Amino acid sequence: MTDLLRLTAAQQAELLERGDVSPGEAFEFWRGRAAGDDLGSYLWVADAAPTDVGRLPPVAVKDLFCVEGVPSGAGSRILEGYRPPYTATSVRNLRAAGAAVLGKTNQDEFAMGSSNENSGYGPVQNPWDRRRVPGGSSGGSAAAVAAGTTPWAIGTDTGGSIRQPAALCGIVGLKPTYGAVSRYGMIAFASSLDQCGPLTRDVTDAATLFGHLVGRDPCDSTSLEYPEEVRRPSAERLDGLRFGVWGLEEEGLERGVADVVRRTLGTTEELGGGVEEIELPSARQGIAAYYVIAPAEASANLARYDGVRYGPRTGDGDLTAMYEQTRHDGFGDEVKRRIMIGTYALSSGYYEAYYGTAQKVRTRIADDFRAAFERVDFVVTPTSPTVAFKLGERTADPLAMYLSDYFTVPMSLAGIAAVSIPAGLSDGLPVGFQIAGPAFSESRILDAGHALEKAIGFEGVPHT
Ligand code: GLN
Repeated sequence: MTDLLRLTAAQQAELLERGDVSPGEAFEFWRGRAAGDDLGSYLWVADAAPTDVGRLPPVAVKDLFCVEGVPSGAGSRILEGYRPPYTATSVRNLRAAGAAVLGKTNQDEFAMGSSNENSGYGPVQNPWDRRRVPGGSSGGSAAAVAAGTTPWAIGTDTGGSIRQPAALCGIVGLKPTYGAVSRYGMIAFASSLDQCGPLTRDVTDAATLFGHLVGRDPCDSTSLEYPEEVRRPSAERLDGLRFGVWGLEEEGLERGVADVVRRTLGTTEELGGGVEEIELPSARQGIAAYYVIAPAEASANLARYDGVRYGPRTGDGDLTAMYEQTRHDGFGDEVKRRIMIGTYALSSGYYEAYYGTAQKVRTRIADDFRAAFERVDFVVTPTSPTVAFKLGERTADPLAMYLSDYFTVPMSLAGIAAVSIPAGLSDGLPVGFQIAGPAFSESRILDAGHALEKAIGFEGVPHT
């Protein structure tokens, strides 16, 4: 059974298909692994195999996905004890395909963060070096996949929260095109940006999980029918494909990260791909625009947590005092900071100056990508400017924390698809390589990722 640990999820699915392992045995094996996690990756682990356990290995699910009867609190104390009466469409789709829910993973509160240190339930340790962060906000999902306490996981990405932790933990993370996967049942952060996607050991697993997640959902009016069959990646060469590199000259990019990315560009050329530098003139303003738009949407989405409908209630006296006390006690500092920024940016005197301007920047960034994709097939960048940083290193400096998403935020604002694949090590820590393509190009970016993955031969954390 320990063999399961060495296999990718797609390989395990073949064993299950052939009947070499029963779904119950596979679930029990992974349940034991998840229950033994000592990195802080999980907020809840299933205590028995559900009756509908099927022909795919089980999946770990970020805490913000509502699962009927299971604690689902987006990593926030304000939702402590909340057990939703319904299940997110993405999780239902995975269950229907045969993947049962193994556990709920730790995350930054309401997905706000890049290190998992904003969780209401404590941080997560990076399995490559326990003194370091796993990235965030899907830090629990990333650490669990990297440490082999789940075969695969899902998370959400609003500005980088799948790709950045995947990079920092040495695994694959896919942020789908906005609208490819239903958001119904995901506890909302910034609704025009939030997307659900896979965190996996390799690109084949990412394609497999993604294929089961996509589809139009009548419960999410922004979801779309995926325009084609999601293909299993198979490319071994990159002949004829053009890769536009962005960001290698940016200030703040660690030298060790730049070296691994340059080496990966060399591999891209050896495989027949063409590499050229491209400009995304407005992408530099991505972080500034994102930190107006995302908090603005969050301030509206989080207005519902007032002690009346969900979670704990504190404060007696009048209604306003109860609202105030509940929100004071229930939200962490980063969430409060975002609510204040968002409320301010949307206030009548400042709406046009901040929110309106940020939306214009967003449009320009989308135009930059459109122009780039007339010249190249893919835009490639480092996923994160640095390798995993030390726990506590950036908690006192929100701006330094926000810059973790410098390379991932532009794709989120443009609504396009992007994957991070592990490309090598810098000082013994994983470095991610980001491949972005136009909307609905997931099969193509995963195929390119497959060719690179084969050539790079990245080895994950040795599992014990
Ligand atoms: N780190 C970014 C933030 O704090 C992105 C988070 C995310 O993608 N959910 O908002």
